[in-house]
Amino acid sequence: MSLYLKQIEQLVALQMIDDEIMQLNTFLKNAPLEMERMEARHLELKDAVAYLKEKIAMIVAQRDQLDRDIEDSGRKVKKSKNKLMMVTNSKEHQAMMREIDNLEKTNRVREEEKISLLEELARQEETLTTTQAELTALQQEITQKKKQINQKLQSAKTRLEALKGLRGEAEQVIPKPILSRYQFIRARLSQPVVVSVGEGICKGCNISIPPQTYNVLQKGEQILSCPNCQRIIFWSEHFSKEEEAEEAEVAAA
Ligand SMILES: [Zn+2]
Repeated sequence: MSLYLKQIEQLVALQMIDDEIMQLNTFLKNAPLEMERMEARHLELKDAVAYLKEKIAMIVAQRDQLDRDIEDSGRKVKKSKNKLMMVTNSKEHQAMMREIDNLEKTNRVREEEKISLLEELARQEETLTTTQAELTALQQEITQKKKQINQKLQSAKTRLEALKGLRGEAEQVIPKPILSRYQFIRARLSQPVVVSVGEGICKGCNISIPPQTYNVLQKGEQILSCPNCQRIIFWSEHFSKEEEAEEAEVAAA
């Protein structure tokens, strides 16, 4: 293989290495963020469960107090009714009747209050059940995801080390000015930046390159850029087989 072809080959390889490095770095950056989001939701749900439990306890206490009050008033009514039979004074009789009336009225109000309290209790308990189910599901998801991410983090780190080595090898073959050009356009243009030209058309921008440039490109002596999009170009015929083989290799990996 000519030096030119070797350089192009290494540029294409470098591009694949850099793409993979970019993907791995994106994963390394996003994984902790995703975990943080899940942990935040987890805390939120835990707080919600604690709040609901507190609220339910308060309703239960209210209900119990109402029960005690109802019972208490009921006892008083019974006592007064018993006493009533022994009272002969009509004024006193009337006063006791009013007292009984009031107690019974108060208890009716309490009974109504209790009904709405029990409805509220049922609602809160339902919400608690749903929230707790969501919390349990999320806890399982977090455990699983943590395991997954930790495994992937390990392999990503190992792979990154390997890629750095490969990158160094590619950089040794590619001339410095070409390497700078590659890095310059890679930082500014959408990927890929090393592209093939087939039938005179640049794969990067889909525009025909001038025939003269195409002729020089086909000679395979000098690394050229697309006059339109500035991407580094090579003739597809020079290289299709090696490129396919490399792609297959990457796909297999
Ligand atoms: Zn182009």
